[in-house]
Amino acid sequence: MEGRIIECPCGAVLRGGTTDEVVAAAQAHARTVHDMDLTRDQAEAMVRPA
Ligand SMILES: [Zn+2]
Repeated sequence: MEGRIIECPCGAVLRGGTTDEVVAAAQAHARTVHDMDLTRDQAEAMVRPA
């Protein structure tokens, strides 16, 4: 499946079909797992092609 991924430093891999989706997934992961607010700019900098 084509899409975008963000690899969290903790080892979790967030996936989405679009940059918007993977950024949202990473922000939700950071908030729930790490109690951290990830900005859109920070998340976008971590986006890689899947
Ligand atoms: Zn993580």
